[in-house]
Order: sequence, then C-alpha cells, then structure tokens
Amino acid sequence: MKGRKLLMIPGPIEFDPEVMQSMAIPTPSHVDPDFIATFGRSLEMMRRVCQCPSGQPFILAGTGTLAMDSVGACLTEPGDLVLVISTGYFGERYAELLKRYGAVVDILRAETGNMVPLATVEARLREKKYKMMTFTHVDTSTAVLNDARALGALGQKYDVLTVLDGVCSVAGEEIRQQEWGIDVVLTASQKAIGVPPGLALFVVSPKAMEAFKNRRTPVANYYGDWAHWLPIMQAYENREPSYFGTPAVNLIIALEKSLDLILKEGLEERFHRHRRTGQAFRAAMTALGLKMIPTSESLSANTLSAPYYPEGMKAADLLGHIAGAGIIVAGGLLPDIKGQYFRVGHMGVVNRNDLLATADAIETALRKCGASLETGTAARTIHQVLDGRV
Ligand SMILES: *Cc1c(COP(=O)(O)O)cnc(C)c1O
Repeated sequence: MKGRKLLMIPGPIEFDPEVMQSMAIPTPSHVDPDFIATFGRSLEMMRRVCQCPSGQPFILAGTGTLAMDSVGACLTEPGDLVLVISTGYFGERYAELLKRYGAVVDILRAETGNMVPLATVEARLREKKYKMMTFTHVDTSTAVLNDARALGALGQKYDVLTVLDGVCSVAGEEIRQQEWGIDVVLTASQKAIGVPPGLALFVVSPKAMEAFKNRRTPVANYYGDWAHWLPIMQAYENREPSYFGTPAVNLIIALEKSLDLILKEGLEERFHRHRRTGQAFRAAMTALGLKMIPTSESLSANTLSAPYYPEGMKAADLLGHIAGAGIIVAGGLLPDIKGQYFRVGHMGVVNRNDLLATADAIETALRKCGASLETGTAARTIHQVLDGRV
C-alpha cells in the first residue's frame, strides 16, 4: 500500500485486519438475534479477559473517559471520601471528574517516573476511612506501571472499593481482577483491546454492585447510570432483545472478533509477549542512549515506552524525521515535562517487524539530529532480546 504509515502511539493502535474486516458489513438491527448473540458473547469474553468470573461486564458506546465517568458517577455520592493515586495525566483527570459528583477527593501524587510507595498508600488508608480508591494501571503519560496486585490487596485489607483505570493495560499487562480483589477494571476499545475507538468497557465486582444498589441519592449522570444499563447487559447475556441507547453495533461486532483473537492467543502468552516486546523496545532505546521516564524496569509498562529526548535536541526535528520514515509516534503528555519526551505505543498486534522499523526510524532520526550512533544498534538489540540472547 503506497503511503502506508505505521501507527505506534498509545492508542488508537494498529488493528488486526481480521477485526477490521469483521465490522465492514451492513449494520444489523441492535435486536437482530445474531447481533444479540454477538453482544452476549462479548460480555462473556470481557469477564474472561479481566479474569473476573463473578463480575458484571458493561459495554457502552463512548470512550475510556466515559468508562471513568460512569464508574465515578455510579460509585460516589456527594460527600464520599475518595483517594486518587495519581501517576500522571489520567489520575489528575479522575480526581477532577470525581469532584463533579461531589466526592471529597484526596490525591496522592507520585514523583514523575515513579509510583506512589505502597507504604504511603497504606498510611493514608489507615488514617482515614475512604469509600473508594482509584489508580491508573499503566499511566499513558509516563509509561509507569503500577502494582495493581498490591493495591488490590490494600483495598481488601482496608475495605475500600478499588477502581483500576486499565485503558492502557487491559489485554496487554497482567490483570487478575478477581484474584487480586479489584472492584472495577475499566478500559476502552482502541488500545490493547484492539478495536477502533468508540467503546467504553468495564467489569464490576459483586461488592461494587452492592455499593451501587445501596446508594441513597440518584446518579447525577443520565447516560452513564448503571440502573439503565444493567438490565440491558443482562438481557444481552440472556440472549433477549432490549433497548436503552443504541449500541455501537459494528464496533461490538469487531469487539467480539478481537476478544476471540485475544483469548485464542491465550492471556498468559499475551502478557508474556507484551513483556518481551516492552523489554526489547526499552533495551533498544537504552542502547541508543535515551533515558526512559520510569525509573526502573519493574516500574516500566510493557504497552508503551516514554523516552526523554537527548539533552539539547529539538523535539520537532526528531519527531519530524521519525514521521518522515512513515512511523507515527506521540509527543509528551504530562504538562510539566511535555516538551522533554515522546511516547511509543507497542501493544496489541505489534510484531518484531514493527518494533524494528520503529526503533530504526528513531535511530536514524537521532543520527540526522547529530547523534553519533553505529548503524543497526537498535535493530541488533531488539533481535537479541526477542531471541533471548541477553
Ligand atoms: C487513553 C486513556 C484514557 C482515556 O481514554 P479515551 O478513550 O481517550 O477517553 C484514560 N486512562 C488511560 C490510562 C488512558 O490511557
């Protein structure tokens, strides 16, 4: 294909051609029996992808922000105490969003490139009785990976509802929602789930559903109110027609295909593949002399990387050269250091060739900007890591 570009940003990502083809059909009715079955199977597979057999999945037309909004609106009431653990841009967003619904929000902010130490979180939970705690699994602005398992355990220990923003992690990073005791896992279609933008997805634990049912006040959000959507999700799983708002029919057809491909690959294999991809890409960037935002390997996300520009190099020049090679990467997102780093998504169907092309484009761009690097440094590193030679 002439003029073909490789989209290596943290969402939307490159989608599997099978997924794209699956949705290129005349739109059926939202109560067509075949579509009802597709919706029902997608809900069942969401439960499996989040590893939460007793959870209630929701699939709504909207984006990841709508998933955050609906969960925030349904689980908080005016005056509720909420702890937001912020590792960057999307933590700040969650705090702002929750305040709109009258929540009293405390924020624990991580140092850039780090997570909030677990001891700090625990000290807070011991000090005050929070109703809910939110955290970003992979912060898309810093590429920091939070310790979801440990945070889930703290939520259990202090009887606090835990909400994991997994928009940049679900179906890429390891998540065992039920085993780890996480009450809500939320995500969107266009990142590691591998479907074009337009679906808000989340899975709710029985405990969080109970908290919702015990509300004293009405939900201050009409579209996102679970009271509207729960009967719809249940109807689809029972293979019965229903209506509240028209579902994004073709996107849900694509979702069924993509979830099926994800489960066929196998979750363990998929987590492993993403870990290796992340390791290989980080190693290549390090070999090129770039410093990453996350301060250690164990804090590094595997779905995207966030390298700093070399000292004194012009961001626009470097990104321009990378784009000139047909590779689309993303600029910085965290307000304080926006101009000092860039971001590369490597989740979903990304393969060795994509990694090689991207890392080589970055190497060539660095050289054009004046860096002295031996040709093939990045590619050699990627092969070494993916072949298990280091
Ligand atoms: C992308 C992203 C969001 C927002 O999702 P949209 O679909 O853009 O609304 C929220 N949280 C995280 C961690 C994200 O990566």
